[in-house]
Amino acid sequence: CGIVGYIGKAQAAPILLDGLAKLEYRGYDSAGISIFDSENIQTVKTKGKIKDLRELTHDGADLAGTVGIGHTRWATHGEPSDANSHPHVNASETIAVVHNGIIENYLELKKRLLAKGYIFQSETDTEVVTLLLDYYFDGDLLKTLSKVMSRIEGSYALGIINKDNPDEIIAVKKDSPLIVGLSEDGNYIASDIPAVLKHTRKIYILEDGEIVKLTRDNVTVYNQDLDVVEKEVTEIQWDV
Ligand code: GLU
Repeated sequence: CGIVGYIGKAQAAPILLDGLAKLEYRGYDSAGISIFDSENIQTVKTKGKIKDLRELTHDGADLAGTVGIGHTRWATHGEPSDANSHPHVNASETIAVVHNGIIENYLELKKRLLAKGYIFQSETDTEVVTLLLDYYFDGDLLKTLSKVMSRIEGSYALGIINKDNPDEIIAVKKDSPLIVGLSEDGNYIASDIPAVLKHTRKIYILEDGEIVKLTRDNVTVYNQDLDVVEKEVTEIQWDV
């Protein structure tokens, strides 16, 4: 029910845990984070509260790395459980995905992926997104995502990290909220503005169908055809 992401110079895990706490008001039954630690994507996720995730990761201290994504889940497909918690990672642990929303045609996609030999770790609709990204991946995550978007139906805000493009986060929004926070010290994604206000007041409000690529010092927004979209920065005047 909430998404956060950070790429910058600081350790990502504590920032993500703090951001998730700011989204707790949206309600959730599970929480998790994936961090790229310069060699591998490390994922910690659990049914329960952000407090439990804090305990499992020693307030994030256990997870080194300056790029990552986090999630609070409000289960729609698959009971609240550790396995059904996000992020959802492919078998080789090269792609991690957080998702808010519902993939309406996931059963049909799941059938096709099963026929291709894919094994599912969860009962969620979300996992088809991870495995489709794995299936279509050609080295360029942005292009791969654009292809996957033409296969999936429903509502989604997605945050994705990928071992082959370790210095970026890719995100997309369609019928689920997602904003981007811009700062000198790094860039952020979040479901809602309060999750990033501690770090920045400069925001991009994403429109449906917009894809965003975040690096440590740059943010580029694209449409689904991957044309660059010029966005206006919104300066937030209010406080949390
Ligand atoms: N449909 C997804 C699931 O059940 C995402 C739910 C959410 O938005 O938190 O895992």
